[in-house]
Amino acid sequence: MDNIHIRCPKCKWKPDGKPYWRCSCGTRWDTFSTGARCPGCGKVWEDTQCVTHAGGCSKWSPHLDWYEGLNDIVKKLKEEIKESWQLVPLEKY
Ligand SMILES: [Zn+2]
Ligand SMILES: [Zn+2]
Repeated sequence: MDNIHIRCPKCKWKPDGKPYWRCSCGTRWDTFSTGARCPGCGKVWEDTQCVTHAGGCSKWSPHLDWYEGLNDIVKKLKEEIKESWQLVPLEKY
């Protein structure tokens, strides 16, 4: 993962691994640790908001646009994330 950078496509703010994101179910977590899937309810947030109180711009961007790095590595990572989005936790719906 050393060659992959995660940052806001709009202002270049970098997430620092803290649980800044909050799901509609009330769960707080680091959205980049799960590929934008809420660990509480399984909802996938295809858009990710930049975190104002941590120095970001508060704008929403597609989650996959946050990943930057060597093209083929990032491409592979994005495919893995998209695959994980197809797994719907049946027991929650
Ligand atoms: Zn949730
Ligand atoms: Zn931003």
